[in-house]
Amino acid sequence: MNRAEMVERLHVEREPWDMVVVGGGATGVGIAVDAASRGYEVLLLEQSDFGKGTSSRSTKLVHGGVRYLEQGNISLVMEALKERGLLRQNAPHLVSDLGFVVPNYEWWEAPFYGVGLKVYNLLAGRYGFGESQILTKEETLDRLPTIKTEGLRGGVVYFDGQFDDARLLVNLATTAVEQGATLLNYAPVTALTKDADGFVSGVLARDLETGRELEARARVVINAAGPFCDAVRRMAEPDAASLIAPSQGIHLVFDGCLLPAGSAIMVPHTSDGRVMFAIPWHGHTVVGTTDTPIEVAPLEPRPLEEEIEFVLETAGRYLRKPITRADVKSVFVGVRPLVRSGDAKNTSALSRDHTIHIDASGLLTIAGGKWTTYRNMAEDCVNQAAMLARLPEKECPTRNLNVHGFHRQASKFGPLAVYGSDALLIQDLVRAEPVLERRLHEALPICEAEVVWAARFEMARTVEDVLARRTRALFLDARAAIEMAPRVAELLARELRRDAVWMDRELAAFRELAQGYLVA
Ligand SMILES: Cc1cc2nc3c(=O)[nH]c(=O)nc-3n(C[C@H](O)[C@H](O)[C@H](O)COP(=O)(O)OP(=O)(O)OC[C@H]3O[C@@H](n4cnc5c(N)ncnc54)[C@H](O)[C@@H]3O)c2cc1C
Repeated sequence: MNRAEMVERLHVEREPWDMVVVGGGATGVGIAVDAASRGYEVLLLEQSDFGKGTSSRSTKLVHGGVRYLEQGNISLVMEALKERGLLRQNAPHLVSDLGFVVPNYEWWEAPFYGVGLKVYNLLAGRYGFGESQILTKEETLDRLPTIKTEGLRGGVVYFDGQFDDARLLVNLATTAVEQGATLLNYAPVTALTKDADGFVSGVLARDLETGRELEARARVVINAAGPFCDAVRRMAEPDAASLIAPSQGIHLVFDGCLLPAGSAIMVPHTSDGRVMFAIPWHGHTVVGTTDTPIEVAPLEPRPLEEEIEFVLETAGRYLRKPITRADVKSVFVGVRPLVRSGDAKNTSALSRDHTIHIDASGLLTIAGGKWTTYRNMAEDCVNQAAMLARLPEKECPTRNLNVHGFHRQASKFGPLAVYGSDALLIQDLVRAEPVLERRLHEALPICEAEVVWAARFEMARTVEDVLARRTRALFLDARAAIEMAPRVAELLARELRRDAVWMDRELAAFRELAQGYLVA
């Protein structure tokens, strides 16, 4: 993935693209992989960095969704469980099994959750991740040594998937490019063009690095702008009614010692009737999430005080040692692109199914869904887009398409495991320039070679791209990320041939952004 090469491809005079995709999150990038692997000519434009929106801010679960089972949405659960299995098959370097324990403090919980989680497992069929099991009190404490013992009766363990969302997104973007797609970050779509009949015929965009305007004609434009998709729809139809009911969710990140035995906690009923997770992730513990309806989705959402208090309070009910604001290493927030429903009372009741909507202008919008189901959503979307654009029908090969970096034993690469097969190439960089083996910070196992790799091969353009999405430093430990930033800026400036003024600007911008990930 090389940005200059992508820009060049855009300027080559051509027939219209078969498909132009607006938005470089899981939905858009999934569509680019699907369309390109079928042999369609596809261009994807992202206004910021790939994954800057919701797709780097999830709870990091590849799951069927126990909660949706409770809501009776069996078809969504079954589809997601199948996709969970395919994702582990196609990206084993990024998706792994994780044991989730539901601690039981009431007599009825073991039989109730025991049966429910058996059903969950049965619905996975041949894509199952492991049998759920009822645990004794001792077995529960073996898996969760830090939870409250007072009143503890036992627990139920079940298995689901866990992943690194932004890393998967970057690997999917590379997969799309390898399949022939053209992807550009820092290129917001600013307008939609129309033909003489008033149908959308392409997009206008701006290359934020050069300020240059870009025009791309398309047989079909696909709006995959997630929580921002109504703004894109209004470029074609200013009065379009909202499709999205945005809702934000926060996560607090703590030290890994909260879950020392490697199992996660699943709290099936919080005081607001939702589920909450505490999961081990990259040597830390991620706790979340909330579901707070908001008016408008910001690109850099911020946590509300009451959300922080709610997560701390809920986690505190289960943990022996109280956790406080001072223990929080980072807070990150994502906005769900939920599809509106006239009668839903709150956003947590809204369906997580995806919707494909075609406006009178011919603009195709895909919204909703989950990270876990991105592949299936893309297949559905490309089928419909091809029909709308009268393109020849082509079979979708993504069920068995390996994601870039595919490696069955990536754990042997230690801290470089998330790069899968690319870890070997990063090790080559270190062999060529041994100083790049240096860690960027003692708190996180991230080395300088990763910055060079991100700039050369993963289209990282800013300090934030490196610290938030190519590595996950900002999400794991915001203070450490701020301290890492100057060296990252130096390495990036060297790779991207930028000057001292650029470095100063980058550092100031990153420091300001990172303040939002600190809890005072
Ligand atoms: C708190 C939270 C926790 C979640 N946890 C999970 C989980 O554990 N597992 C799971 O499966 N799912 C989870 N989800 C759901 C999942 O993260 C989302 O469904 C998914 O990431 C949405 O991806 P998207 O591509 O549709 O949206 P986004 O990732 O937001 O992508 C849309 C992109 O469009 C770009 N864009 C907008 N306007 C323009 C424009 N004019 N030009 C160019 N680009 C534009 C944006 O910059 C953005 O990058 C969670 C969601 C939230 C909020």
